[in-house]
Amino acid sequence: MFGNHGKVVMAYLNENKVESQDLEKKLYDEYFGAYGLAVKLLYKQIPIGADPLGPENILAFTTGTLVGTPAITGNRFTVSAKSPLTGTWGDANCGGKFGPALKFSGYDGVFVYGSSDSPTYIYIEDEKVKLLDAEELWGLDTTETEDYLKKKHGTDVEIACIGPSGEKLSLIAAVIHDKGRAAGRSGLGAVMGSKKLKAIVVKGTKDVPLANPEKAKELRKKWVADLLSKPSTKKFTKYGTIDHVASSTYSNDAPVRNWAGVGLRDFPTVDKISDDNLLKFEFKKYACWKCPLACGGYYKVEEGPFKIEETHKPEYETCGMFGPNLLNDNPESLILINDICNRAGVDTISTGATVGFAIECYENGLITEKETDGIKLEWGNAELIVNLTRKICFKEGNFGKIFGNGVRVASEKIAGSEDFAVHINGQELPAHDPKFGPGWGTYYMVDATPGKHTQGCQNSYENGNGIAGLDLPKLEKYVYTGKGEVGARTHNLFHTLHCLGLCRFALFRMNVNVWVDFLNAVTGESYTLEQLEYLGARIGALRQMFNTREGLQVTEFKIPGRAYGYPPLNDGPLKDITVDIKLQMKEFYQSQKWDTQTGKPTLERLKELDLEDFIN
Ligand code: SF4
Repeated sequence: MFGNHGKVVMAYLNENKVESQDLEKKLYDEYFGAYGLAVKLLYKQIPIGADPLGPENILAFTTGTLVGTPAITGNRFTVSAKSPLTGTWGDANCGGKFGPALKFSGYDGVFVYGSSDSPTYIYIEDEKVKLLDAEELWGLDTTETEDYLKKKHGTDVEIACIGPSGEKLSLIAAVIHDKGRAAGRSGLGAVMGSKKLKAIVVKGTKDVPLANPEKAKELRKKWVADLLSKPSTKKFTKYGTIDHVASSTYSNDAPVRNWAGVGLRDFPTVDKISDDNLLKFEFKKYACWKCPLACGGYYKVEEGPFKIEETHKPEYETCGMFGPNLLNDNPESLILINDICNRAGVDTISTGATVGFAIECYENGLITEKETDGIKLEWGNAELIVNLTRKICFKEGNFGKIFGNGVRVASEKIAGSEDFAVHINGQELPAHDPKFGPGWGTYYMVDATPGKHTQGCQNSYENGNGIAGLDLPKLEKYVYTGKGEVGARTHNLFHTLHCLGLCRFALFRMNVNVWVDFLNAVTGESYTLEQLEYLGARIGALRQMFNTREGLQVTEFKIPGRAYGYPPLNDGPLKDITVDIKLQMKEFYQSQKWDTQTGKPTLERLKELDLEDFIN
């Protein structure tokens, strides 16, 4: 087998047992890794109706066929399980060095069953696996946890862990790697916490077997040079994602004032938290494993109330949700907030959304100082926002109890707050407004992990860019019919690309055929783009069926009106826009051959996809 080792770790925490399991080559040939391999293995193993925070839920850490190989950005790992936040299939991925290190340990993934009676962590080194006592680690934040484990096992280990948020089973808890890279969405940190699994620690020296190493290296050399020659790459390498906090606020792509505001009208000082005004706090750049784009950075704030010595840069999503969304123009506070969230191990998107929801509830008299621990909530007050973030992250005080599980749980406790609660089946929306990019809106509603912005790429065809090598028609952004094919086909193809372990920032910058060439050089197979699309459709169908077998009425998930223009804004660049999301969803389902009433893949489609095994 090439591209993978053909082996995963099975950790049975109830029995305090770990073992290695060989997997068939066919599984890798068709599902590759990430959430593809996970959904294939877990679909039948997680019982229908399983409590996401109970021992019957199974947590997967998977890599991908191109992880640890010369393929550009082959460095991501994915965490999957039934999501406690949404009750749907849940997955989230993360860059850094953990994915390649797991692969170099001799394993392609780790599957965690049951739950432990006491805190534990998994240690893997060159095919040797141990369960170790984590009693001393329980209660530590993610930075302290990494420091402790690196002191004990050496600075060359890589770690994925949870902080206090995951331990306290917060539904918005994340899995954190390298003190500040997050598999943030779907609340999977809480699944880890429910299993009393504090961390997975990996290192190793086992190379990933390559069918044609010379060809893979040659491809890398050629395409890295091509990538680095593009002016857009230079800008991305310099700023990363913070180069569009301001422009996304001008366009109203970023949510303003909990999705009810208008960019420049309500937040004219956004420039203070974008581009060079944020970049000036960077003191060192870094890259995920062997990534030539190198968009990461270390930041510090030298003085003032938000002083912090060293932390990861806050990305666009964090800046969007804690900046325009809360009318907060203080850059230093964003840097500190990002660090607080990373240390606690919580998703910054959900946390920023929850703070905005709370402020609006207070402003409208739905909660009082009794619920806020005596604090008067207001927009744009950086110190107050830092304080509220801490309370959510660590579930502190009355406020932390009410808001520490995200928007939906809080909204269920606060009568009359539904209109302010911007989430889809529990997952708070990220900082991209469907009224600005209707494609975002489609995937928020139809993807098996609702409210996620990192699926498909209908938007690229709405904004005229498209994806090089993928010949699909340009779409009129605000014509809501005729988008199903692009929405579905890019959804499918990108499933495969994600499952290879690649970073989306590279996927948008390269000709899509480059990935086919890398895959064939690494595996020795002869995949075509059409096959990758077909295999992605199978992965997508399985994720979808995971939800429908749970009895979820996925086509009826409540649409968060504000985000889609129900009612439309009365001012600004998105004035009077209402996205016909029901039509977009219907045409997406039709193109996938999923039933438009239930969202379930049709019998005909399951047969086409050779998934008869899963007919239920
Ligand atoms: S583009 Fe940025 S996030 Fe993606 S792999 Fe490279 S350094 Fe990591």
